[in-house]
Amino acid sequence: MKIEIEDKEFTCFLEYEQIRKRTRLLAIQMNVDYDNRLPVVIAVLNGSFLFMADLMKEVTIPVEVAFVKLASYHGGESTSGTVKKMIGLEIDLKGRDVIIVEDIVDTGITLSYLLEQVREQEPASVAVCTLLIKPDSLQKEFDEIAYVGFEIGNEFVVGYGLDYKGLGRNLKDIYQAIVVPSET
Ligand code: 5GP
Repeated sequence: MKIEIEDKEFTCFLEYEQIRKRTRLLAIQMNVDYDNRLPVVIAVLNGSFLFMADLMKEVTIPVEVAFVKLASYHGGESTSGTVKKMIGLEIDLKGRDVIIVEDIVDTGITLSYLLEQVREQEPASVAVCTLLIKPDSLQKEFDEIAYVGFEIGNEFVVGYGLDYKGLGRNLKDIYQAIVVPSET
């Protein structure tokens, strides 16, 4: 099925049922890996809100749940000229087992910022769970990425938490942008 959001057309790419099944498997793996450890699971808003909710419903071991946002500010320099600062964390991570939940890892730049800031708090361990990853865009390898929902190509995706121009986060399935010849 095709949908339109603003100036772009999208076609269905991953149906909710597929996402749900894969999420359940990730949760089962987490239940085994973190048995008796009480991890802090940190979701990065806004994109991961639906994935986090579905994932947490399948995790059966005790966990603490936290949400953070990334605020861009221009006080420092990075490759893009903008530094992203993690805000909103209310749990002390020192000595804790941390699992970061992301919607998508593209170049990995955002994840690098996050990992750097989480590490400053000296957690016992850090793992990353991402619903989607774009291996062809990834600029460096991350040993921390322990849970991956789906590896996808470089196409832009929307839905199930992910937006295009602020829209589409509430779509149940994930859609892929249809590339028109003028964009290539
Ligand atoms: P990275 O820093 O890994 O390059 O990019 C991560 C961020 O870029 C994601 O958290 C997401 O906000 C955005 N992003 C990257 N690829 C996509 C995509 O295909 N669709 C949407 N909606 N956002 C994306």
